[in-house]
Amino acid sequence: MDSLKHDEAEQEEERLLTGGLRDGENDGAKFTRNPSTAITHRKPSVWKLCSAITVSLLLILLLLKTSPLETFARWMPSCFKGTGVAGIKDTGGLYLIGAGKADITGPVVEINLMGYADPKQLGSGLRQRLRARAFIVGNIEHPNERFAYLVLDIQSGDTAIRYGIVDALKELGPEYASYSHHNVAVTGTHSHAGPGGWLNYLLPQITSKGFDRQGYRAIIDGAVLSIRRAHESLQPGYLSVGTTKVLNANINRSLFAYLANPEEERSRYNVSAGDDGTVEKDLTLLKFQRASDGKNIGVLTWFPVHGTSMLGNNTLVAGDNKGVAAYLFEKSVRGEETAAEGFVAGFSQANVGDTSPNVLGAWCEDGSGQICSFENSTCSDGRSQSCHARGPFFRVKDEGASSCFEIGKRQFEPARALYDQLNENPTPVWGSLVKSFHTFHNMSEFTFISNGKKVHTCPAALGYSFAAGTSDGPGAFDFTQHDGNENTTSPVWRAVSYLLKDPSDKQRACHAPKPILMDVGEMYTPYQWTPNIVDIQVFRAGQLLIIVSPGEATTMAGRRWKEAVHSASAALFEQEADSARPASMTSAPIVVLGGPANSYTHYITTEEEYGIQRYEGASTLYGPHTLEAYINVTLSFLPYLGARATKPPRHEGGVYPPDNSNKSLSFITGVIRDGTPFFKAFGDVVADVGAFYRCGEHVKATFIGANPRNNLRLEDTYAAVERLDLYRGKEMWKRVRDDADWSLVFRWRRTSEVLATSEVDLVWEIEDWAQPGVYRLRYYGDSKSLGGTITPFEGVSSSFTLV
Ligand SMILES: [Zn+2]
Repeated sequence: MDSLKHDEAEQEEERLLTGGLRDGENDGAKFTRNPSTAITHRKPSVWKLCSAITVSLLLILLLLKTSPLETFARWMPSCFKGTGVAGIKDTGGLYLIGAGKADITGPVVEINLMGYADPKQLGSGLRQRLRARAFIVGNIEHPNERFAYLVLDIQSGDTAIRYGIVDALKELGPEYASYSHHNVAVTGTHSHAGPGGWLNYLLPQITSKGFDRQGYRAIIDGAVLSIRRAHESLQPGYLSVGTTKVLNANINRSLFAYLANPEEERSRYNVSAGDDGTVEKDLTLLKFQRASDGKNIGVLTWFPVHGTSMLGNNTLVAGDNKGVAAYLFEKSVRGEETAAEGFVAGFSQANVGDTSPNVLGAWCEDGSGQICSFENSTCSDGRSQSCHARGPFFRVKDEGASSCFEIGKRQFEPARALYDQLNENPTPVWGSLVKSFHTFHNMSEFTFISNGKKVHTCPAALGYSFAAGTSDGPGAFDFTQHDGNENTTSPVWRAVSYLLKDPSDKQRACHAPKPILMDVGEMYTPYQWTPNIVDIQVFRAGQLLIIVSPGEATTMAGRRWKEAVHSASAALFEQEADSARPASMTSAPIVVLGGPANSYTHYITTEEEYGIQRYEGASTLYGPHTLEAYINVTLSFLPYLGARATKPPRHEGGVYPPDNSNKSLSFITGVIRDGTPFFKAFGDVVADVGAFYRCGEHVKATFIGANPRNNLRLEDTYAAVERLDLYRGKEMWKRVRDDADWSLVFRWRRTSEVLATSEVDLVWEIEDWAQPGVYRLRYYGDSKSLGGTITPFEGVSSSFTLV
C-alpha cells in the first residue's frame, strides 16, 4: 500500500480541527529567484490594472449613486480581494516581503540540553522538531536595502552560529550578496529544551562537555535554508502591525529586584490588577501580506516569556512554549482562504530577562508548603535547590509538557485574534524605507557620558547569585560546586577550572556592588569564556523599529532601551519628508525589542536591579552601567536608520569577536555502533499497541532501536502515526502525525552498553479532536555498523482502532 504525503493528510486533519472544509486554494504566487525581476514584472501589471479597474468602478458607482463601501467591495477586482478590504482601506507602503521555515533539530539524545546548565540533563528523545523561521523585508525601489530576521527554536543567538550563517550566505553567490552582518539578525526563542554544545564561548560549553559539531551544523544549515526559502518567496506586499494583551502567560520571577526601580517609573506601567506592569503583557504582531492576491505569508510576533515551561528534569527536545505557539498558529491558518501555502508564524522573544512562564509562582518543594523567600528565592534551609516555580499544570508529572502547551496556547490565541483583526482592519506600516545597522562593540572598557556623568563598563564577570540560579532552574551550575564526584563534574570543567583567577582590585571596583564569582571576561585560555565584544543592531521598516538585543533584557531594562530609541527615532522621523507616507500617517515610531540574539551576553538589568544582585543582576556581564552602554551605542548609530543614510556603518577596521568553532574543546564522543539482541532485527516491535483506544489515552509501541544521532532526519521524521483511509477506492495508509506534532513523542534509551543495543518508544498522546479510525505507529531509524556504514530501517506497530 502507498502512503500519502503528510502535508496532504495534515491539511485534511486541519480542516477537521478548524471546522469544515474550505474552498480550494488558488496559490497565485510563483516563486521568483530574482527579486528585482519580480518587481518589474509585478508592479506595473498588477498596479496599473488594479488602478484602472478601481477608477472605472468608482465612476460607475458614482453614476449609480450607490456608494457604500460594501457595494464597492463586492465588485472589487480579484487583485484586491483576499482580505476583502485591502483595496479600499489604507494598506500602507509596498515592501518586498518573504518568509521561510526549515528544520534545525540537532542530536536529540546523549547531548546536554542547553539552558539549565545541568550536566546531568541529557536528551533522550524528541517531542517537537526545532525550526528556523526567517522573515525578510526589503525596500521595493532599492531591493538591496533589506533585512533578514531569524527566529530559531534555540536558547539564544550565538557568535559562532552567526558567523556560520553569514559565511554560508556568502557562499551562495551574488544573488545573496546583500545579506551580511549588518542586516541579518539571529535570534533565539530561549527554549531550554534543545540540545546544547553549539555555543561560541567556553562558559556555556562546560555543561555540554564541549562543542558538538553535528548540532552546530544542523542549526546553521537549517537557518540558511529558511533564509533561502524566504528569499525565493520575495515579492511585493504589505506589512501591518498591531498590539494585543497576553494575560496569564508570564509573571516577574525577580519581583524583589524589579521593585528597586523608582516608584514613579513603575507606576507608569501599572495599568490594572491583571496588568500591573511588573512584566510586559503586550504582544506585538507584524503581518506579512503579499500584494498579488492579498494572501498572508506569515506573522512575526514579540512577547516576553522565558522558555522554561519544560522543566529542568525534561529530557525531550522541544521548542518550549514559543515553539508550541508557532505550531498552533501555523496549523490554525492552514487551508484558510486568507493564508498562503507555507505560512510561517514566528514567535520571537522580547525583554525576557525577569519573566517566567511558571505563572503560579515559586514554591518550596520541601514539604513545608511555603512560597520561596521574596528576597532571594530560597527555602527554609537557606538554599535555592528546593525552590521551584509552578506552571499552570504543575500537578501533572510530565516534566512541564502540559504547562508548556498551555503557555504556548495562551500566546497563540490572542495573537490569532489580533491577526484576524488586522485582516479586517489593517494598521499598516507606512512608507517604503528599510534600513538596518549592526556594530561590534567592545564592552570590556567603554567610557561614555550618562546623565551628565562619566561612567564606564568592565570586562565581563559573573556574581555569586549566578550559581544560585532562578526559581525556573535553581542552582544548576553545579560545575562550580565540587562535591568530589567525578561523574557529575563536566570533563571540561576539570580541564579548565584551574585557570580561574582572582579578579583585580580594579575589576572588583568596576563591578561593585556585584561580588565576583567568576572573572570570565578576563580569561582568554584556552579561548574566551564569555563575550566582551557584543553585537548591537537595529532594523527599521517604515515606522517600525526592531532592537536586536544580544542579552536578556529585563522588563524595565527593555522599556528604557525602547523608550530611548522611541524618542530619538521620533526626532529622526520628523525630519523626513517621505513621499510614500500619507499626510494622515502619524510619525510615531513603533519600537520592539527582540533577543537574545546574535551573541549570548547573558542578562541586562537596570542599574537599580543590578544593585539587588539577584540572578539577573549577577549575570549582567559588564557592570552596573551595562544597560546605559547598550543604549548609548544604539543611539549613536541610530542616524543610520534615517531616510538620508545611504549605507550602513562599516565593520572594516573595527573589532570583531572571535570565532571559536574550530578550536573549541570537546569531550563528546560519537556513536560507535548499534547492535541488536539475539534473534531480533532493527525495527522489530518488542511491545505492541493494544486493540482499541479512546481520545485522551496514550498509545505506545516499543521497537528495537538505533542511535538517532546516526541521522538527524532533518526535514523528515523519526516517528509517524498513520491512518487507514480510502483513497480513490483503494485502501492506503496516510501519515497524519510526525515529529512536528506536539502529541507524538519519540523516546530512545540504551539497553546495553556492551551489546550497543537500544530501544525506542513511540507514544501518541491522542488529542481530543482526533478522528476515529484505524491507525498504526511507524518508526524510522538508522543503524551504524562498526565499519561506520549507516543503514536506514523502519518498524511498524500493529494497527489499532480509535473509537
Ligand atoms: Zn534566561
